[in-house]
Amino acid sequence: MDYFKTAQTIYQRSLENSINETDLSTIAHWPEEQVMLLFASADMVRRHFCKNGVDPCTLLNVKSGGCSEDCAFCSQSTHNKTNVNVQDLVEPQLIKQRCEESFDKGFPFCVVSSGRSLKKEDLKQICNALSGCRGEKHASLGILDEREFSMLREAGVVCYNHNLETSRSYFPSIVTTHSYDDRIKTVKLAKKTGLRVCCGGIFGMGESWRDRIEFCIQLRDLDVDTVPINFLNAVAGTRVSAPKENPLEFLKIVSMFRLAMPQKTIKVCGGREVNLGALQSMIFFAGANGYVSGGYLTTAGAGISADDKMIEELGLTKKLKQ
Ligand code: SF4
Repeated sequence: MDYFKTAQTIYQRSLENSINETDLSTIAHWPEEQVMLLFASADMVRRHFCKNGVDPCTLLNVKSGGCSEDCAFCSQSTHNKTNVNVQDLVEPQLIKQRCEESFDKGFPFCVVSSGRSLKKEDLKQICNALSGCRGEKHASLGILDEREFSMLREAGVVCYNHNLETSRSYFPSIVTTHSYDDRIKTVKLAKKTGLRVCCGGIFGMGESWRDRIEFCIQLRDLDVDTVPINFLNAVAGTRVSAPKENPLEFLKIVSMFRLAMPQKTIKVCGGREVNLGALQSMIFFAGANGYVSGGYLTTAGAGISADDKMIEELGLTKKLKQ
């Protein structure tokens, strides 16, 4: 195959938002020695739609550990034997403080809780804390009903994160305590309530490229606004092993998702530093236009200052929300 020409064709098709399953299969089989041609296509699509703007965000784990669900990768599941800190809802004051700090930086702020769903009282407290704060507010609080989504909206939340984690075919190997359809239902309900939706998953859990293609098509069909891409950071005591993928394979996933969903926010989240190492700034040249900064749920990140420096050195501009 002439990969130079194929990269041009895929670039054109992506601009027209018409990448098909055959194209995704071509991307999946793209040889490592030619991978820069694929990155160039994804990078040009990113530049076409996003210019040099990138979207950062920060998050706070407001309730940690003790989760009844059995997600194999998750250090917060009671089915896994990890040393994660189990903590009830943090003080509302901390939520307010962190939300205001994010506002001062111009970053959206996301409250995240462990657990299948939240106690009504906890949700009320979170909403009360957020409603008095400035800035763009996001939430990731598990399975909610329509009334609960409306409470979030009234508190000023504009975007809801709920990941599918992986393909429908691979999901039963990762989670058995709830179904893929439970997750899809929640995503659709959040959209119906008028929230933007952030929905993606984790890579490096033993899924195949076939699964990645299936997953990519699923997310495109759901028409989510932001696709968070996490690379597995295997925590001791969870039921997954450290990923076998090298950084270039992870970056190929970023390119696949950018090319398939050219106008969406493709956001690289957890596992960036640990899995990509020196290549982490390549996420943008592989097609990403978003990132989580300043640490993840139960693991540390490079830190906001280090990320700011990277963005500046790359000649990119943070799209700030002030
Ligand atoms: S990913 Fe969420 S639902 Fe699954 S075990 Fe972790 S906290 Fe619970």
